[in-house]
Amino acid sequence: MVKDLEDTVWIGLEYFANEGDELWEMPDRRFIEFAIDELASINVIDKADVLDATRIKVKKAYPAYFDSYKDIKVVQDHLCGVENLYCVGRNGQHRYNNMDHSMLTAIDAVKSILHPEEFKREDIWKVNTETEYHESKKAEE
Ligand SMILES: Cc1cc2nc3c(=O)[nH]c(=O)nc-3n(C[C@H](O)[C@H](O)[C@H](O)COP(=O)(O)OP(=O)(O)OC[C@H]3O[C@@H](n4cnc5c(N)ncnc54)[C@H](O)[C@@H]3O)c2cc1C
Repeated sequence: MVKDLEDTVWIGLEYFANEGDELWEMPDRRFIEFAIDELASINVIDKADVLDATRIKVKKAYPAYFDSYKDIKVVQDHLCGVENLYCVGRNGQHRYNNMDHSMLTAIDAVKSILHPEEFKREDIWKVNTETEYHESKKAEE
């Protein structure tokens, strides 16, 4: 049991994995040890200081831009035809939005509700129109 929480820190690690691949299938305990080893090897932590750890697998965390995604415009056009429907955020648009994009879509939705003549509902879809993953772009640069 931790005696003094003020002297502890929570560290979150994020690993990209696909369902069924080696990382995904690795048993929890082994994965946790692997992650602790990684942190120790880059001198972020001393292994002996780890008090507790947990692993959470999140399926379908990323919107997929393949297969029928090329037809997304058909879906968008249909949704835009539904009165009073404002599609915002990552899952609301099935788009690889980050936090900023997601908030922007919400801000645009509010503008559109308040001033529909000035801000068209369709324009909410103009935020983050790139169909590339930002991480892959960074890796290529
Ligand atoms: C692994 C990962 C790492 C990320 N890293 C970054 C990063 O470093 N920087 C960054 O800017 N962005 C990052 N993002 C993206 C960022 O998390 C999203 O862009 C942002 O959270 C999307 O906001 P949102 O409001 O659209 O959706 P969410 O934040 O997903 O909110 C949707 C909410 O709706 C709730 N919900 C769903 N269905 C229902 C229902 N039927 N009834 C009631 N509630 C429901 C969900 O529980 C959730 O709380 C990351 C995303 C992932 C998955």
